[in-house]
Amino acid sequence: MTNTNDALPGRPISFWLDTTPRTKFPPLPDNVSVDVAVVGGGLAGLTAATLLKEAGQTVAVLEMGHIAQGVTGYTTAKITSLHTLIYDYLIRHFGEEKARAYADANQAAIEQIAALVTRRNIACDFTRTEAYTYAEIEDDVNPLEAEVKAAARLGLPAALTYETPLPFPVAAAVRFDGQARFHPRKYLLALAQDLPGEGSHIFEGTRVLDIVEDEPCRITTDKGTVTARDVVIASHFPFGDKALYAARLSPHRSYVVGVRLDGPVPPGMFISSGESPHTIRSHPWEAGELVMVGGEGHKTGQGGDTVARYQRLEAWARERFPVRSVEYRWSTQDNRTIDRVPYVGRANPTTKHLYVATGFGGWGMTGSTVAGMLLRDRILSRENPWADLYDPNRLTLEGVPQFVKENVNIATHFIGDRLARGESPDLAPGEGAVVETEQGKTAMYRAEDGTTVHTFSPVCTHMGCIVDWNPAEKSWDCPCHGSRFAADGKLIHGPAVKDLEPKSS
Ligand SMILES: Cc1cc2nc3c(=O)[nH]c(=O)nc-3n(C[C@H](O)[C@H](O)[C@H](O)COP(=O)(O)OP(=O)(O)OC[C@H]3O[C@@H](n4cnc5c(N)ncnc54)[C@H](O)[C@@H]3O)c2cc1C
Repeated sequence: MTNTNDALPGRPISFWLDTTPRTKFPPLPDNVSVDVAVVGGGLAGLTAATLLKEAGQTVAVLEMGHIAQGVTGYTTAKITSLHTLIYDYLIRHFGEEKARAYADANQAAIEQIAALVTRRNIACDFTRTEAYTYAEIEDDVNPLEAEVKAAARLGLPAALTYETPLPFPVAAAVRFDGQARFHPRKYLLALAQDLPGEGSHIFEGTRVLDIVEDEPCRITTDKGTVTARDVVIASHFPFGDKALYAARLSPHRSYVVGVRLDGPVPPGMFISSGESPHTIRSHPWEAGELVMVGGEGHKTGQGGDTVARYQRLEAWARERFPVRSVEYRWSTQDNRTIDRVPYVGRANPTTKHLYVATGFGGWGMTGSTVAGMLLRDRILSRENPWADLYDPNRLTLEGVPQFVKENVNIATHFIGDRLARGESPDLAPGEGAVVETEQGKTAMYRAEDGTTVHTFSPVCTHMGCIVDWNPAEKSWDCPCHGSRFAADGKLIHGPAVKDLEPKSS
């Protein structure tokens, strides 16, 4: 039986959600017609909607839950073009011109956020600071040196340093100056406040079920239909998959603890290089500064004992910082593309009106903002120098080995999880498992009251893989494409659009 999360320290809520009010936009009341429908109210969707409205378009944001409460509500919100180590890779695999386009796009995204904050006078703790990628051991220093060389060649504000403000020694670090951090929900709630009106809308509690491309496009939701000339799919993992995103994206979860330190908090934002990176940044808080420490990543639905992951993360933080208390803990997931560049542009090779923004690979603060700028330009038929690089339909051999690996991993779970036998249904309150019953494989959850037992088909409603119980988050997670369902079977994360199917036990 897996570890239980009762003993974990810190409140299980993201700091960003805990320090901002909940939103209450209405659901879609009836049929509505706009220039552009945006599916998903995260940073990608709300940025695209904001920039399109500024450019004179009417927009409708369709959000199945509440805005800024998906991945964006659980991020660590470093705004930087230092994406661990990427520029040396980009020059070698895409050439200097495209590597420069990536660098320019992400630097422009930092300035786009800064401009919106200034223009709209948004109080979101936006602060300029340095970003570092550090190596703790000598063996990891060479790639850092190559990264600084590559980044400097592309005009980025990069330097190699052997000293950082961290309270533990590093072998070396890449430093980017002029980067930034903010409170992502304070930023987005301010943008969202200005969106409704003059023909534009935000609809919460409105799940998109289907999109038919036509002139105009028809978006079917669980509340009514929206018609729009163009549609932006910013649902984190796209659905309605004519372009095989399911085979080209892989969702990865990672964990964050928010801690209070005894002693000074290091200024700057940090990530370690190497196989299993850890991320560190601080944020002003009523009780001083909260230090967020992240890590323990794994492919969604394949995390095993996720409670132990929080425990290892806390131990890692305590080994390196004088931790006085753990205040928060949360986790979330982001999608990686097979060649490390996000997919932003026309959703499939034949479409004229469907656009997608996904695959930010853990760097969606700048990535989503690039997406907003790029999609505004594409929809308004304006030239954009980053369009080819980000084109979701690009032909590249760079990702082929990764593509093969991902699809072997999916096939292994699709078949292997069907054959595996579950444990006997001896569940403690608050626990779930996929078990064998007379009705065959069943996802079973015993509620905290100890008596209510929820039973579902364990078959993910997206593409039919078998979901896995996540004990730390009390959710059912799909190991293939990252859909997630609450303990009671309700959908909490796509690409699925339907809840798990209830089953009698
Ligand atoms: C632990 C962690 C830390 C991170 N830290 C950083 C960082 O420091 N800096 C950085 O740049 N990036 C970071 N990222 C990445 C970044 O947070 C994400 O890339 C970004 O938030 C994704 O935004 P999004 O708008 O694409 O997705 P989301 O915020 O998830 O928005 C998508 C929205 O679509 C809605 N939706 C889905 N399906 C439907 C449907 N059918 N109908 C209607 N609505 C739907 C969802 O409810 C959701 O609100 C981090 C990621 C992780 C995992």
